[in-house]
Amino acid sequence: MRQRFGIGYDSHRFAEGRPLILGGVTIEHPRGLAGHSDADAVAHAVIDALLGAAAMGDIGHLFPDTDDKWEDADSIKLLQEVRRRVTAASYTIVNVDVTVVTEEPKLAPYIQAMRENVARAVALPVGAVSIKAKTNEGLGAVGKGEGVQVFAVASLGGA
Ligand code: MG
Repeated sequence: MRQRFGIGYDSHRFAEGRPLILGGVTIEHPRGLAGHSDADAVAHAVIDALLGAAAMGDIGHLFPDTDDKWEDADSIKLLQEVRRRVTAASYTIVNVDVTVVTEEPKLAPYIQAMRENVARAVALPVGAVSIKAKTNEGLGAVGKGEGVQVFAVASLGGA
């Protein structure tokens, strides 16, 4: 089996009056993330990692934010759709690894639920989905609490 790897990255600014949704989990926080969809940066980064590994484009190409169809979209559903497309192209998803960078809130209480949601969306066991969270140690815009950055890597087998 040939192995392939993809990298995904996403960032969203914090905004008032929005829910904070990461990995399909609604997180207790005074501010959410700005975005056309539900702004789930974890789901978006994993989508781009999967599409990258399959060389099948990127999230903006598949779900353009100029299309009202994706307004407030549930990004976990978009991730399910990407899993469908990637597996339809004869790839097997092997594992996903994610790092979330944000000064706040503390994500530790939510990590397990996020892993379970992402694992379910891509039809993997939870043990094949890693999600880690860290702060940016006060550095830069993320360090000042202006938003969230997410990095993801996915590995595929096949074709
Ligand atoms: Mg995004």
